[in-house]
Amino acid sequence: MLSLEQQLQDAAELMQRAKRIVALTGAGISTESGIPDFRSPGSIWLQQPPVSFHDFISKPEARQRYWQSRRNLSAQVTAAQPNAAHLALAELERKQLLQAIITQNFDGLHHDAGNNAERIIELHGTSRAAACTLCGKRSSIKELQQRIDAGEIDPGCPDCGGFLKSATILFGQRVPEAELTRARELAAECDLFLVVGSSLKVTPAATLPRIALKNNVPLIIINLQPTPLDDYADVVIHEKAGVVLPPLVASL
Ligand SMILES: [Zn+2]
Repeated sequence: MLSLEQQLQDAAELMQRAKRIVALTGAGISTESGIPDFRSPGSIWLQQPPVSFHDFISKPEARQRYWQSRRNLSAQVTAAQPNAAHLALAELERKQLLQAIITQNFDGLHHDAGNNAERIIELHGTSRAAACTLCGKRSSIKELQQRIDAGEIDPGCPDCGGFLKSATILFGQRVPEAELTRARELAAECDLFLVVGSSLKVTPAATLPRIALKNNVPLIIINLQPTPLDDYADVVIHEKAGVVLPPLVASL
């Protein structure tokens, strides 16, 4: 087993040769900001199964449950601040080494950390906007939440009458095609693929590092738990992102 110091050195050597790093981030980077990982043991979503997209659009009681659970979650997400790992990725962009961040998170913390919004691809949407489930048009989540809090049930889209909800992807809802296409292009064009805090178990995000591997691009994985791609990665560090990324980026 390599020491953390040795692993950091190996990762730094690979990153020093790269100019177009693409990072894929998952729940693991935001747990250090106090946002629960919905898929980990003990998760609130395992105690009460999440509302699926099908249920949301077909059952009024599912929509009520959705807004109820969102009330608890949004308090946690709103209070969250970017942690050392988010800030290190912003620093990587300032060093002109980071092409883009593809994220499975919807908490907006990469934006708060200072990364350019045009370089952030949110595969699972964002909790900072509302979206129509039918036409996809985005609107203010604050106004929508106020309508819900004021007792309105099932607020509809002014354009098409579809149901409104937060602009995040529910279970059973597909990742938007534009985001997915761009993520695949970035994975194909990068010269180093960096996984941070993703277990690489949820598709389509999990397929992205495989695209990079096909092009013989170095793969670095920083995640507390083992992932299915550990054996294929050039460097694997099973440690918190907030411990690993700051010294790594500072050494570049
Ligand atoms: Zn609509």
